Amino acid sequence: MKKVGFIGWRGMVGSVLMQRMHEEKDFEKSFTPYFYSTSQAGLQGPEINGQQSPLENAFDIESLKALDVILTCQGGDYTNEVYPKLRESGWNGYWIDAASSLRMNDDSLIVLDPINKKSIDQALNQGIKNYVGGNCTVSLMLMALGGLFEQDLVEWVSSMTYQAASGAGAQNMREMLEQMLYLSEQSKTIIRDASSNILELDQLVTELTKTKEFPKKHFGAALTTSLIPWIDKEMPNGQSKEEWKGAQEGNKILGHQGIKIPIDGTCVRIASLRCHSQAFTIKLKKDIDISEVEDLIQNHNPWVKLVENQKQQTIDELCPTAVSGTLDIAVGRVRKMNLGKDFINAFSVGDQLLWGAAEPLRRMLNILLAQT
Ligand code: NAP
Repeated sequence: MKKVGFIGWRGMVGSVLMQRMHEEKDFEKSFTPYFYSTSQAGLQGPEINGQQSPLENAFDIESLKALDVILTCQGGDYTNEVYPKLRESGWNGYWIDAASSLRMNDDSLIVLDPINKKSIDQALNQGIKNYVGGNCTVSLMLMALGGLFEQDLVEWVSSMTYQAASGAGAQNMREMLEQMLYLSEQSKTIIRDASSNILELDQLVTELTKTKEFPKKHFGAALTTSLIPWIDKEMPNGQSKEEWKGAQEGNKILGHQGIKIPIDGTCVRIASLRCHSQAFTIKLKKDIDISEVEDLIQNHNPWVKLVENQKQQTIDELCPTAVSGTLDIAVGRVRKMNLGKDFINAFSVGDQLLWGAAEPLRRMLNILLAQT
């Protein structure tokens, strides 16, 4: 039986991965799971099939070397520190990772099997050992627009994102709620006084976000009542790293050499709890009927849920609260734009913790266990 080590299983992505593996009864399949932690080695691990064991130390190379497969949702710092040491020690197992560190390496494949199952099969046959989940917005974009990419209809795409607080991790999601709590507690008397001056309330809340008690250790800014138009590091060309990933990872997943399809836009963190939303401007290579565009989008994979471009249905179904916790990729607002006959507008919402992170890794583990 293959030995599979799980690292980062109690973080945001890891928790969703565990939840999905339980739902799909993955732990009843024939592999032995081992659980690791970077901070809680020795404490009790999660209960699996009625059994619990102490957590192993995620930095213990000798222990990791005994595994056939390592699935990590721990983050880039962990991958950068441990992965090279492990390979240098001669370990030749499979490394499945949520972090971006290894994504663009030649000996890594970015996995999103509804889009690139053929490449995954090919890579396994060729002996590739590193399988990395894509950036969340990139994976969600490809799931949403897969039908247009598959038919080679896309000349370029602009993606303007609205990304959830939980995309930055468990502690950030908690901090956003702490910000809400702080503001509510400090201003509740005025909020509840219907006769109070609205500008007084506006001023009080704005001032509160500037006090030193306002919780912003993780985001470094007010997310509640505001937004953050920068995600990840600065790139030399003026893009944020999150924006840079669109074209780089998107084309790599599609199997292109270099940037065959330009993809760009502005990535913005907003105060939604879960789900990344994206507004697309799509330049098609030719003018095709909007009903054909809708058919191609809807029929590409079983998870796309096309929302009619109509007000009430859009408000009800094309939003994070409707999609959160589901595998649905909601796509709506599909229409031709005033910019020209071959310009399409679309809006998409997907749970970045499911198709944007945990689900491609869970499915990769299953593909791997079935084929090796
Ligand atoms: P995270 O929630 O910050 O969890 C990472 C680790 O932080 C946990 O495994 C845990 O490790 C430690 N931790 C410390 N305090 C914690 C607390 N209070 N609750 C839970 N865990 C705590 O990170 P993440 O968002 O899952 O991201 C992991 C990787 O996936 C990153 O590389 C990220 O870029 C990538 N990713 C994230 C998303 C997303 O939507 N969040 C989407 C796609 C990809 P120990 O048990 O070892 O202490």
